[in-house]
Parts: sequence; C-alpha cells; structure tokens
Amino acid sequence: MKKMEVGILGATGMVGQRFLSLLEHHPWFEATWLAASDRSAGKKYGEACNWRLRSPMPVAARDLEVHECKPGGAPQLIFSSLDSKVAGEIEKEFARAGHVVVSNSSNHRMDADVPLLIPEVNPDHLALVGAQRKQRGWSGMIVTNPNCTTVGLVMSLAPLERAFGLSKVMMTSMQAVSGAGYPGVPTLDILGNVIPYISGEEEKVERETQKLLGQLVDGRVQPGDFAVSAHCNRVMVEDGHTESISVALRQKVSLGELIEAWRRFRSLPQERHLPSAPQHPIVVRDEADRPQPRLDAETEHGMATVIGRVRPCPVLEFKYTALSHNTIRGAAGAALLNAELMRSEGYLD
Ligand code: NAP
Repeated sequence: MKKMEVGILGATGMVGQRFLSLLEHHPWFEATWLAASDRSAGKKYGEACNWRLRSPMPVAARDLEVHECKPGGAPQLIFSSLDSKVAGEIEKEFARAGHVVVSNSSNHRMDADVPLLIPEVNPDHLALVGAQRKQRGWSGMIVTNPNCTTVGLVMSLAPLERAFGLSKVMMTSMQAVSGAGYPGVPTLDILGNVIPYISGEEEKVERETQKLLGQLVDGRVQPGDFAVSAHCNRVMVEDGHTESISVALRQKVSLGELIEAWRRFRSLPQERHLPSAPQHPIVVRDEADRPQPRLDAETEHGMATVIGRVRPCPVLEFKYTALSHNTIRGAAGAALLNAELMRSEGYLD
C-alpha cells in the first residue's frame, strides 16, 4: 500500500516530536510536511527543533523545511499539536481549506459538532463530522482526541460504564512534567515539589469524560449521566500520568467481576488490527505497588492503560490506580489511532 503523506502543525513541540517518532515506521502514513511558529519557519527541522526524546530524531525529518502554519502546499491529512493559544483559528483555517485536521489541542474538543474520540470507546461519534461539514460549509473537518489525563480515566471507566453503569467518579491525578510541553514547568517550581493546580485541567477532565462516555442521539452527544470530580496535580515525573480513582456503580458487582470487565475489554481498533492499536487496551497488574510511571508507562508501546491496586472503597464502592503515557496515548498516539480509525472507515479516501 502506498503511504499517505501527512503534515504536522506544531512539529517542533513535545507532542510534535512524538508524532515524528511514531510516524517514522508507520505502515500507512509518512510525515512529509512540518509547520511551527515564526521562530521556526524557514529553518530545517534539525535546526529548529530542540529534540527531547530518547530515541533519535528520524533522519528523514532532519532536512525537512519547517513551514508557517498556512494551508497552501500541505497534505490532506494534518495532525495538530499546536499550542492552544493559537490552535483554534489555525485548525479552522485548515479545515476550511479542505484538510482533515486530527487535533490534540483542547480548543475544539467540546464543540457540539466536533468528534472527541477514543477509538476503543466511542468510534460512533465520528459521525458528527457530517453535521460539522454541513453547518460550517467546510470541505475538510476537525476531529479531536482528549486531554492526556482524561484518556486514562475514560479507558478505565468505559468497560465499567458498559457492563454495570457508572454513578459517581472521583479522580486525583499525579501528572508528569512532559504534559506541560517544553520547556514547561520551571525547575525551581517542581523540583522536590507537588503543584496542586494545572490551569483548566480539572474542568477539561470532567467535561470531556462525560462527552466521551455520552450517547450519540439524533446527531448530538448526550453527556454521560454520572458525576465526575477531578483533582489534578503536577509531580516530578518525566512521562506518564498516574491517577487514583474511586467509583460508584449502578449495579452490585464483585471485585472479580470488575477486573474481568477490564481484562475482557477489546474494541474496534483491536478487531480491525489498526497499526497503533494496543493488543490489550487495558492491562491489569496484580502486584501491590504497580502501576508506576517509570516501570509501566510504556506498556504496549505506550498505548495501554495500566490498572492496579483494585480494592473496595469505603466512601464510593471501588478504588484503583490507572496509568497512561501522556505524550503517546494521551496525545500523538491517540491522534494517530484516530486517523487510522478514520482511514478504516473511509474518511480519508
Ligand atoms: P509545546 O512543546 O509547547 O509545543 C508547542 C508547539 O506549538 C511548538 O511546535 C510551537 O512551535 C508551536 N507554536 C507555539 N506558538 C505558535 C504560534 N504562534 N504559531 C504557530 N505555532 C506555534 O507543547 P506540547 O506539549 O507539544 O503540546 C502541544 C498541544 O498538545 C497543546 O495544545 C497541548 O495542550 C496539547 N497536549 C499536550 C500533551 C502533552 O502531554 N504534552 C498531551 C495532550 C495534549 P515553536 O517551536 O516554533 O515555538
């Protein structure tokens, strides 16, 4: 199969680097067009980018020119990892010009006609793009993936919502510094410290969780009918967001049934063998002290949600720990899986 050319908006940032790294050996897509701010435009990628990943910069990317974030000359499929201060307007400009924009940024996630997708959880929400194109008069479209903290939470909740129904959810996060981009949080703020505030994060997690687990009825998403409360903290971890979660369910179930629901969970990306789909989207660990970000964030190439410490909760019903890689499953890998789902559904033909 001939590879499809793709572009990356925000290619020089933390998530942009992940895109390039994940696309290096991708069987369907090839990154051929890169764009970033005026600071980088006109330079070769190798000069413009302060590469921060452990794996080396892909050789093919080094000599690519970094473009301005303008649609002329860009391929049809565009991944966006732009700073949210500028992503909103730029993504709309690309969609208006006929591009399929698969975005990480928060700007359009909650727009009623924009799919907010996790392919294992709500692939049917992709149908929202029909109304989006009609209402906005676009030949292109915008599709989004959730915030890096939402994704691990919702992956863990989806099998429970399906099997037993959710009533209440409490989540406290311990979020890695790479989640704040580069250079991110100043060393003097985070070294030996915990910052109990990430601007806008708790509201995003609460709203996005209900949209993702909502039902598509008559072309609109009806948000999930359960309460969610999020506490978000930044901690001194490089990659991987850890979450302490308590849930109350609508049915009485045993601890064993809960774990079984996670272990059995498979969905469309697994059935279709999409290239970035983890074989096991949820991995449940039995050890008393797992998951841990340093040991477990890269499970299934960073695409799985790892769950552990499952036990009764005296306030709600059950509590557990979930871990998800923030720049892979929480960002670039999530967008890539969205694009793979779209291709398998015929949206990129
Ligand atoms: P980052 O490291 O700060 O990168 C930001 C990117 O945006 C860079 O390529 C930068 O280009 C570009 N940019 C900044 N200002 C611009 C402008 N005025 N015009 C055009 N391009 C501009 O941030 P990040 O962590 O990669 O995050 C990117 C997006 O993904 C954000 O919206 C973030 O909220 C979202 N996200 C991040 C994570 C994560 O774990 N990091 C997870 C999920 C979602 P220059 O290098 O030229 O300045």
